[in-house]
Amino acid sequence: MKSKESILTDNFGRYHNYLRISLTERCNLRCSYCMPLEGFQLSPSENLMSAEEIYEIAKIFVKFGVNKIRLTGGEPLVRKDFIKILNLLSTLNIELSLTTNAVSVDRYFNELKKAGVKTVNVSLDTLSSQRFHDITFRNYFDRVYKNIFKLIDNGFKTKINAVIMRGTNDDEIISFVNFTKNNPVTFRFIEFMPFDGNQWRREKTVSYKEIMDKLQSTYQKDQIIRIKDAPNDTSKNYKIKGYKGAFAIISTVTNPFCDQCNRIRLTANGKLKNCLFSQEETNLLKAFRNKEDLEQIIFRNISKKYAVRSGLSDPENFEDPREHKKNRSMIAIGG
Ligand code: SAM
Ligand code: SF4
Repeated sequence: MKSKESILTDNFGRYHNYLRISLTERCNLRCSYCMPLEGFQLSPSENLMSAEEIYEIAKIFVKFGVNKIRLTGGEPLVRKDFIKILNLLSTLNIELSLTTNAVSVDRYFNELKKAGVKTVNVSLDTLSSQRFHDITFRNYFDRVYKNIFKLIDNGFKTKINAVIMRGTNDDEIISFVNFTKNNPVTFRFIEFMPFDGNQWRREKTVSYKEIMDKLQSTYQKDQIIRIKDAPNDTSKNYKIKGYKGAFAIISTVTNPFCDQCNRIRLTANGKLKNCLFSQEETNLLKAFRNKEDLEQIIFRNISKKYAVRSGLSDPENFEDPREHKKNRSMIAIGG
């Protein structure tokens, strides 16, 4: 008989207490780095988890020790039964959080508060309305921008995720940091990662080192303060002395943080992924519907987890476009 923690512990001793659930493959934006240009073939609706199935499967993970669940997507807020899912999961006595593009997050403030959500991560890759349209193919900059301030005013701990792409928004890094001067947010710079259909090229990724070099040539050395990272944090955290907010860098490409990984992912169609880059997936929804023993199935999936980026440890194979094609688009994983 295994202890409940051992079900979620892999061969490298990493205990996975953090589950990210993708609620949908749909989105109201078309971010070029996430959604394939040619569009995305949605799963048939009967293959998607219902609100009750999400709750029942989440409950099993909580039984094995998951104590943190993040709702993501696609865009989680386009799901019509989002509030129902939120209310169900709020009964699980876990830390519940949300990643959203913030287009319509203001409609859910009361429900989010009632469900105990304290932290909201928002995607925003530019402070220019025209550029927002160029990246997302939609005109929602003003809504998203205003909603960030509304989130702050409503007491949500707000993090802003910006995927930094050379030639697209890398000239805004200093403006992003300056945004933190008067605003208590953490601006997180994410290295652009390769996924099926997102036109990734190595040279478009702006590395952790390049970002730091840029900052060090703008701010004096003693102005840039390294902040202690939280346990299992994927980002390296900093702030500028005297600024209300902070900034962070997530360097999945040039400096992966796999040795501390505590994350597992459940896609909207009920597949368990033990890594963002894993090509092997376990159909938990099917097993759940067939009333199979999920404990063993989950354990087998977790114990197959690679030490680093699902085996793409060598930067050479990370750069092979055939490898990216094998990995689902980000829209279908849930970032
Ligand atoms: N729609 C929500 C949003 O945009 O915040 C949640 C889903 S989105 C897939 C989750 C996160 O994945 C976002 O912060 C987004 O920036 C990130 N992401 C998507 N594609 C990426 C890529 N190719 N490289 C790095 N991050 C990516
Ligand atoms: Fe939609 Fe988020 Fe992907 Fe942008 S990053 S297309 S908002 S799921």
